[in-house]
Amino acid sequence: SDGFGLLRLPTRIHFGNGAASAIAPLARELGRRVFVCCDPFLAETPQFERTCEELRDSGAVLQVWTEVEPELPVDSVQRAADAASVWGPELIIGFGGGSALDLAKLVALLRSHGGRLSDYYGENAVPGPITPVIAVPTTAGTGSEVTPVAVVSDPGRDLKVGISSPHLIPRFAVVDPTLTHGAPAAVTAHAGVDAFVHAIESYTAAVRAPEWTDQLPVFVGQNRLAGLLAEEAITVIAANLVRAVTDPDDDAARTEMAYGSLLAGMAFGSAGTHLSHAIQYPIGALTKTPHGLGTGLLLPHVLRGCRPDIDPALRRIGTLLGVSETGSDRALGAIRRIEQIVADIGIPASLAELGVRAEDLPDISARAAGISRLAGNVAAARPIERIPGIVTAAWR
Ligand code: NAD
Repeated sequence: SDGFGLLRLPTRIHFGNGAASAIAPLARELGRRVFVCCDPFLAETPQFERTCEELRDSGAVLQVWTEVEPELPVDSVQRAADAASVWGPELIIGFGGGSALDLAKLVALLRSHGGRLSDYYGENAVPGPITPVIAVPTTAGTGSEVTPVAVVSDPGRDLKVGISSPHLIPRFAVVDPTLTHGAPAAVTAHAGVDAFVHAIESYTAAVRAPEWTDQLPVFVGQNRLAGLLAEEAITVIAANLVRAVTDPDDDAARTEMAYGSLLAGMAFGSAGTHLSHAIQYPIGALTKTPHGLGTGLLLPHVLRGCRPDIDPALRRIGTLLGVSETGSDRALGAIRRIEQIVADIGIPASLAELGVRAEDLPDISARAAGISRLAGNVAAARPIERIPGIVTAAWR
């Protein structure tokens, strides 16, 4: 990817312990009528109450929507969008995990352009700018605060579907790591490993857009600008993920994870991800297991299966991870180190442990290949011929 790079980001990113106090002044720049999407658990916390108070003190009028359902079923998004269209907000705030942030982005999309969510599935189907969004993550994982993506589950399609467009990038991102400090170990693990997968897959995605064209794909594959962010994300997450999961009082590690997941989101929002994401979608639909658990389980197998294509990138990852082996052994050392981190946070070692049966494997591979072929998905290019071998290796 020498000489090629692309970053599309929020116009401002506030990062740091206490950054939540920037929400009210930022909101004031965008308007007074505010629709807030907040996860029901977070809505009861003092941090959220303080934010609402600061917004009201600065002259805002709020409608707070707390019906954020996990995995974001399309009809739940439509209900929120209907409520917002009656209320007529000038801006939308998403406060919560990736589900609340994605909901805020989709409510803003439907408010601005109408229609149904399925009109926008895939890549670059959003016709223009959307109502501005301020994204405030409370998990360290999805990076949704900076990405051009929102993910929904569509029962009609039996899978999760992505909507990807530069117009979905939040206007402002406010990342206050203290908001993540109370998250339970399972949420910290599943969200945190998802960020690790974003960082590593964005660094090993194929180059998809070496030529400049009128409309670039949303995800352009591995590139220099994204690579810089991914390298820092890989280093920071590898050093802090296990500590953040195993010691709930290690606030320093959680703050580092919020930083790492922000960088990983910036990297994958440009480069895209690849086969761990493509293969997780059908597995998540079949086993009803969290996204991060599946992508984390799959990652070492995907890296092994794709090693012929990504050896130089894997060696560089080995250097970042302080792997002692040299030459091509460093690539293997990197995969082993990644596998160890994933195991240390309690991610199961095989798809069989998630309840996947041998007879499910061909269907999983076929669906994952279909997702990989879809341009608009978070899955950027990697050879789909490798999928069946990877799925079999991950199942054993
Ligand atoms: P989530 O938003 O679904 O939340 C998971 C659980 O964690 C919820 O029960 C929530 O109440 C709880 N929670 C959140 N913050 C907490 C905190 N600080 N303390 C205690 N509990 C807390 O989980 P997530 O992993 O953040 O997001 C997953 C969703 O994001 C999925 O739908 C996934 O598809 C999507 N996603 C989006 C992108 C993107 O770029 N838009 C990227 C990856 C994943």
